Amino acid sequence: MKADASSLPDAVFHTLREIVGREHVLTALEDRVPYGYDASKLSTPPQAVVFPGDAAEAAEIIRVANRFRFPVYPRGAGSGMVGGAVPDRGGVVLSLARLNRILELNPDDMIAVVEPAVVTGVLQKTVAQYGLFYPPDPASLDFSTIGGNVATCAGGPRAVKYGVTRDYILGLEAILPTGELITTGTRTMKGVVGYDLTRLLVGSEGTLGVITKVVLRLIPAPEAVMTASAVFAAIDQAGRAVSAVLKARIVPTCLELLDRATLCAVENHVPLGIPREADGLLIAEVDGPLEVLPRQMAAMEKIFRDHGALAVSVAETAQEREKLWAARRAISPALGRIRPGKINEDVTVPRSRIADLIKFNQALARKYDLVIVSFGHAGDGNIHTNIMVDRSNGDEMARAEKAVEELFREVLRLGGTLSGEHGVGITKSPFFQWEIHPGAYDAMLRIKRALDPNNILNPGKMFIPNRAFFHTRSG
Ligand SMILES: Cc1cc2nc3c(=O)[nH]c(=O)nc-3n(C[C@H](O)[C@H](O)[C@H](O)COP(=O)(O)OP(=O)(O)OC[C@H]3O[C@@H](n4cnc5c(N)ncnc54)[C@H](O)[C@@H]3O)c2cc1C
Repeated sequence: MKADASSLPDAVFHTLREIVGREHVLTALEDRVPYGYDASKLSTPPQAVVFPGDAAEAAEIIRVANRFRFPVYPRGAGSGMVGGAVPDRGGVVLSLARLNRILELNPDDMIAVVEPAVVTGVLQKTVAQYGLFYPPDPASLDFSTIGGNVATCAGGPRAVKYGVTRDYILGLEAILPTGELITTGTRTMKGVVGYDLTRLLVGSEGTLGVITKVVLRLIPAPEAVMTASAVFAAIDQAGRAVSAVLKARIVPTCLELLDRATLCAVENHVPLGIPREADGLLIAEVDGPLEVLPRQMAAMEKIFRDHGALAVSVAETAQEREKLWAARRAISPALGRIRPGKINEDVTVPRSRIADLIKFNQALARKYDLVIVSFGHAGDGNIHTNIMVDRSNGDEMARAEKAVEELFREVLRLGGTLSGEHGVGITKSPFFQWEIHPGAYDAMLRIKRALDPNNILNPGKMFIPNRAFFHTRSG
């Protein structure tokens, strides 16, 4: 849909300027265009971008939107992968960028209270100064915001041990789609009074409320970290080693897997000496008390060797650890050399089915003559399946589209989920109902309609299958 700044009545622009001040409303096309994008590369410029200075201003904007009936799209850093912040129906982008303060850091209660635009990595570094730890670690942590992380329930490699964003949210302040400001949850570790509205808002992708404050649970920082990597000649062996590690009651901080296609791409980009016959590489990290880690590492090394590892390396110093992570960190630039774009699906399967999924992906690549690389968080079954594409190649995009559909069917058949991290947004909307039980879908729709009777907040996401965008998506 083409948005045009002139299609909102002048009274709207006037009112928005009155609420936040002239300098905090963008209407020039060149200013609006960047706010039409997120990392999905979908884009539609909004009619205006508004930067409230506090929650009261944000609430006032939502009330104006209800009065004039225009859509509002909450926005953090715009790093979402599924078009969640893309203003695809015109209207106003509500950027939370000015709400960027750490309001409270309480080491006694081990909580932090922050505004939504605090960058995740900044929060982590700040709490580390107090010996505290905020574990969720999306790879985007240097630029994505806590508000965006809460709205998408972001996760990362450490999820296998520490869980995801929702596990660290005690309470929220949020503006409902009709403009009322509410607080949810507690500042305590426990709290069971009433419906869990906090959990309802976490992962709601900006469709049920605008998050304006977050009460976060912190934990003590681990004392030490050790890392190992193991090369396997068969992906099955790597898959079985993952299950064996967890069955041995070792809970690694991260357990990352790279398949053969990923390893080839990495080795062609930067020769790290990964054996050519390698079919899978595992990188495992443990953290905790200094005296426990060597024992856990030794047990893990034995498991890797018992499962046929061709080589195992263990790192103790930060420098050695960095070397082991080099292959993982090289993936992104390495893939850029294969094709200019990629369709990055963050599918997740039960851990016992990881090898099945990777073998399926390899067969899919052969069937559709595509380059498909699979890597990611084997410890929690979240295998990023990247279909490498050149978006200008219509034939390749058509084959990729068929491959995505087959991938999703297989993931559901394996008992998995279509998204472990990124959410539904626009790009997964055509497939939402494939996974969600019809009764649950109906309940979700009723919640959305009850809280947002005028369909103001992020309309056109999740529930509306939007295929128009499929051909343009790329990461
Ligand atoms: C290189 C790269 C690596 C990534 N790695 C990971 C990863 O490891 N794990 C992972 O989970 N994700 C990852 N992502 C995806 C993305 O970073 C996350 O989804 C992140 O949580 C989005 O945060 P954001 O601030 O950019 O939100 P945005 O992209 O601005 O918004 C995302 C969604 O949240 C809503 N939203 C944003 N702020 C608010 C708010 N205050 N109130 C209500 N709704 C709001 C938006 O409407 C939208 O629906 C990655 C992205 C990139 C580009």
